[in-house]
Amino acid sequence: KQLRDKVKKMGNVVFQADLESALRYSLKHEIGTTKDIFGEKLDALKAYFSVLIKYFPFGIQGKAFLEELLDLLKDKVSLDGATIVEVVNKYDTEAANVFSSKHQWIACDGSTSEKRGYPCGLWMLFHFLTVEASEKTNMPKEVLHAMKGYIKNYFGCADCSRHFQEMAVSRDLEGVTSANSAILWLWMAHNTVNKRLSGDVSEDPEFPKVQFPSATNCPKCRLGTNWDYNEVLKYLKIMYNSLNIRYIGAD
Ligand code: FAD
Repeated sequence: KQLRDKVKKMGNVVFQADLESALRYSLKHEIGTTKDIFGEKLDALKAYFSVLIKYFPFGIQGKAFLEELLDLLKDKVSLDGATIVEVVNKYDTEAANVFSSKHQWIACDGSTSEKRGYPCGLWMLFHFLTVEASEKTNMPKEVLHAMKGYIKNYFGCADCSRHFQEMAVSRDLEGVTSANSAILWLWMAHNTVNKRLSGDVSEDPEFPKVQFPSATNCPKCRLGTNWDYNEVLKYLKIMYNSLNIRYIGAD
């Protein structure tokens, strides 16, 4: 609770530990528990690993680890998720120097073990990837397509997955034409979910669902009852910038 309060006071900050814990969980518990990975599922996995290699904030060893995961899929028609877990376990040690900390939630820590954690980390991971992609390449829909494929084929919450696929159509994901609009598309999609879940039983009372960013965190982002999209974009590009990632114990 003390750490949660301290982190809360820092405002909207991205922690490497949250991104890594989301990645670990997705590899070990979602992909890792999928028995028959072939066809669309295999394509979705390739797209996910490809964006991770390009944009996940790992060092040299981490990149090598992700490359090995992608290599596993090459020339395969199908595989069992357990094969992925074997590779992850090999690299998930202190000696391998891939992950910066043990599995833990910092900004995504919930007031009980059922709240927040993985889904929070997964959102942050994909927001981070859209921002990182905008700095590095001009392939506007690359990350959103990888996310859509991941959520459809691997995300454990079936309702969430269905909602997200519906939103990709109703909010015209295919109409995204720039890296900046990809960042804003995901921000808006996330706010749609925040609105739907506001007051829901799944909400953590310590972290009520708000339209993000709150007026307190970004007064300039709002123009009366409307958003100032340029300011929102600026805000997201700062919050999810790789240079602003915090490491545990760094301060
Ligand atoms: P989260 O909503 O998980 O947000 C995590 C962090 O992201 C926040 O702490 C904040 O720092 C930042 N953030 C918040 N909003 C934005 C934004 N708009 N743009 C950028 N950053 C933001 N649960 C359901 O019950 N029903 C659903 O249909 C559903 N759909 C989901 C779809 C997806 C793709 C995902 C990843 C999760 C979904 N969930 C759904 C889970 C739900 O959205 C939350 O992740 C969960 O309730 C935990 O909420 P949280 O308070 O940790 O904040």
